[in-house]
Amino acid sequence: MATQLERARAGIITTEMEKVAAEEDLSPEQIRQGMVDGSIVIISGNGRAETATGIGRGLRTKVNASIGTSSDLIDIEMELEKAAVAADTGADTLMELSTAGDLDDVRRRVLAAVSVPVGNVPLYQASAEAAASLGSNLKMTEDLLFELVERQSADGIGFMAIHCGINRLTLSVLKSQGGRSGGLVSRGGAFMSAWMQATDSDNPLYEQFDRLIEILHQYDVVLSLGNGMRAGAVSDATDKAQIQELIINCELADRARDAGVQAMLEGPGHIPIDEIKANVILEKKMSGGKPFYMLGPITTDVAPGYDHITAAIGSAWAAAYGTDFICYVTPAEHLGLPYPDDVRQGVMSSRIAAHVGDMIKLGRRQADYEMGKARRDLDWEKQFALALDPEQARSVRDARPGSGSEGCSMCGDQCALKVGEAAC
Ligand code: SF4
Repeated sequence: MATQLERARAGIITTEMEKVAAEEDLSPEQIRQGMVDGSIVIISGNGRAETATGIGRGLRTKVNASIGTSSDLIDIEMELEKAAVAADTGADTLMELSTAGDLDDVRRRVLAAVSVPVGNVPLYQASAEAAASLGSNLKMTEDLLFELVERQSADGIGFMAIHCGINRLTLSVLKSQGGRSGGLVSRGGAFMSAWMQATDSDNPLYEQFDRLIEILHQYDVVLSLGNGMRAGAVSDATDKAQIQELIINCELADRARDAGVQAMLEGPGHIPIDEIKANVILEKKMSGGKPFYMLGPITTDVAPGYDHITAAIGSAWAAAYGTDFICYVTPAEHLGLPYPDDVRQGVMSSRIAAHVGDMIKLGRRQADYEMGKARRDLDWEKQFALALDPEQARSVRDARPGSGSEGCSMCGDQCALKVGEAAC
């Protein structure tokens, strides 16, 4: 069956394009054209057309929430709760990144529980299954890896972060630059690098790219070219290894599209604030404007416990400069697996950042204008309705004395808006 991209090229408007157009307040033809020129992807998943979500130029910046077990904490019920919390808090997509427990079961239960597109990293399950069945993840076979891409695609995974851009050349660049002060932090990137060294082989996801693309085409999965060389410390940002991988990923994205598979590119990671713009420009120029999915970016390394904030600062700048899709960061980042409340805080922080970016990128300021007027008018119900998190806004006000008064307990009877009423 033809993929969304192939149908767009044939001039066909699909129901998925219509859904995205309605959500973005654009015409279906604008969405179709964006797909044809590669600036927009639509993610859904096998048998999950109703979850179709658009990512790319001219569209609202989207937020991903990642969940999943680890070997230290296998609690599928909690992962399902985290999935529900993420969706309820407004995440546009989920990534199910479990690495321990019954991985097929958790993926299928998450897919059944949420009505947003779900992505993943097939390398994680390949590593876990190789460790369980062969005694070491370094014994992973190429066939197992491709079989997992197919198994997960068939289940309804809508986008896959696949680390194709780590090959012998990328690793030689990493070595020649003297490694990294912060090490390798991408789980997929670190595992693939270790596997390549242990087996003295090149990356099968790079070497057999056509085999990968054939599977993604069959299930119309969006290829998200993983950033295995993303910096895990601001001091490593924008180095040669990261750029080398980006060059390879840009070439592979074109090959994927030539074969009718939609593609987007992933980016770092940890970036000081003055390098974010350069990272966005590089990806957009080198890829020909393909959607950019950034992980954070985290803007300082010295605030563990508050990395939802360090990342929200970076995400706001990134979105303003043109990033299309941001992966949330929770307060638990660098410290442990997130709990449901960490997920809630992470999604809200990223949604705020995405909105701040869209005020610049898309000029979306009407809600802010309305909020200013509602505050001037001391219209509390309207303020709650306009808030990104109405429940939180209402609960803060209700928990304080004076919540029944016109103003609030911040200034009490010296409410500036009442005092200055006559002036404006
Ligand atoms: S009391 Fe102060 S903070 Fe509260 S609404 Fe009036 S001016 Fe604003």
